[in-house]
Amino acid sequence: MNDSVKVSAVKCESYTIELLTKKVQKAIFDVGGWPKKVLDAKSVLLKPNLLSARAPEEAVTTHPELVRVVIRELRRIGIENISLGDSPAGSSSWDKLWSATGMKQVCEEENVELLPFENVKRIECKNGTSLPVLKEFEDFGAVISLPKLKTHILTKLTGAVKNSYGLIPGKAKSMFHGDYQSPRQMGLFIADIFEHIKPDFVIMDGVVCMQGEGPANGSPFELGAIFVSEDPTALDASVCEVYNYKATDIPSLVRVAKNGVGIIDPDKIERTGDAWDIVASKNPKKSHSDFLHKIPEKMFHILTLFLSYRPCIDQKSCVKCGICAKVCSQDAIERRSDGSYRVKGKKCILCMCCMESCAEHAVELTSPLKRLFR
Ligand code: SF4
Ligand code: SF4
Repeated sequence: MNDSVKVSAVKCESYTIELLTKKVQKAIFDVGGWPKKVLDAKSVLLKPNLLSARAPEEAVTTHPELVRVVIRELRRIGIENISLGDSPAGSSSWDKLWSATGMKQVCEEENVELLPFENVKRIECKNGTSLPVLKEFEDFGAVISLPKLKTHILTKLTGAVKNSYGLIPGKAKSMFHGDYQSPRQMGLFIADIFEHIKPDFVIMDGVVCMQGEGPANGSPFELGAIFVSEDPTALDASVCEVYNYKATDIPSLVRVAKNGVGIIDPDKIERTGDAWDIVASKNPKKSHSDFLHKIPEKMFHILTLFLSYRPCIDQKSCVKCGICAKVCSQDAIERRSDGSYRVKGKKCILCMCCMESCAEHAVELTSPLKRLFR
């Protein structure tokens, strides 16, 4: 195949270090080994998905043992200077985020720097705008993305392309939702900025994935695979089949390919490895909110407002931490006199940042009918 890109899928049924090591080595070998940029790098940034302070078993974040194995593989090729970080959806402390997700233990044991994504530098984008990205981003010789395969209420899939969005630190990520108020607009925006923060290599955690109301409130399901590629877009275009999507169903992937930054054409993607049969056979649940993508873009806000389709806080699960209110770019979550929190429907733009940031699963997307039942 000329001008093709390789994506490997290797069966891996558990997170035991021995098995992961064998499977990660095989998946990297199948795509032709580490790319030159990684081999030549003096320092590497690892970018797992650390969406919020959740335990690894919840399948919200990249599993720490996969991270450990990747660190050890990088050491085997002589890379000593390794840092790890991500910008979460909420505002819990760095220590809480790293401890809950298991990253603190792994990084301490493997002598890797945990980098808080706090420093911002603006980069000029092709479309004339400037983007606030992690200041240290360009200091690294290579960036390796370690996404978790999950569904996503807004973007359908969160994989390798979406994982780069975490290179934008802090509240800026949720502020952009105010500018791009429909799932499609947000997907296209993510695609447009992707080329400026594209990683050099991707190793995806597809051992236990998320189905249903991802990226934070779905349920784990066992897929049993590790995916590797130099092209994040080709990788996502291949793994979206797990959820019975075609790459052309996902606006961000179509846009990235159109921008010439990645490949989604199946004729140009060379699949290697032994796990492609399970990719097509598991049939996990998509998000119930998939229908939001069918609402015409211009009518999105008005129609969802009319249908009163909004997030709702379950007062029994809520611990009144206030993180959702802090993360909401629209000031649509109010604190009441009794200390509880409530979503003000009219101000809400359905960005789902409150759901993503709530570590207690207390925020749920609801219809008026569902609220009536409650
Ligand atoms: S819903 Fe409650 S527990 Fe969840 S982030 Fe908001 S205040 Fe915290
Ligand atoms: S209430 Fe939640 S979904 Fe609505 S705008 Fe605020 S963060 Fe976004």
